[in-house]
Amino acid sequence: MEPNYNGQNIESNPTPQPQETCPVCHQPILPQYYYCPNCGNKVHREPLSTSVKSQISIYLFSAILPVIGFLFVKRWPGIKYAKSKDPKERQIGQIAWTIVIISTILVIYFAYVATNRAVQSALNSMNMDLGAF
Ligand SMILES: [Zn+2]
Repeated sequence: MEPNYNGQNIESNPTPQPQETCPVCHQPILPQYYYCPNCGNKVHREPLSTSVKSQISIYLFSAILPVIGFLFVKRWPGIKYAKSKDPKERQIGQIAWTIVIISTILVIYFAYVATNRAVQSALNSMNMDLGAF
C-alpha cells in the first residue's frame, strides 16, 4: 500500500478486475497469453527480443539506414531535373521535389501516429492505474 497524492492509500488492484476476454471471440483469456487459445487471434504483444544477436542486428541496421537513404537520394534523378536550365525539365524536377516533401511529411506523420499507438497499448497492457495523472 502506497499513499497517493491525496494521502489516501491505494491498493495495487483497487477494484476486482473483470476477467479479461478475447476481443474477437469473447472467450475468457489469461493476461499472460499472447494469442487466444480459442480462436488464435493475437491478444497481447509478444515481448521484443533483447538478445545480443537482436541488439547487434538492430544497431547495424540503424547505422546503415541513413547510408541507404543517402545512396537512393544520389541516384534519384529529381536533382538533375531540378537543376536543369530547361524550364520543362526544371518543372518536372520541382514536381518531383514536391512529391518527395509531401511523402516525407506523411511518412513522419504516420510513424508518429503508429509510435503513439504502440506506446498507448504498451501502457494499457501494463495495466497501470493512470487516474492520478
Ligand atoms: Zn479469441
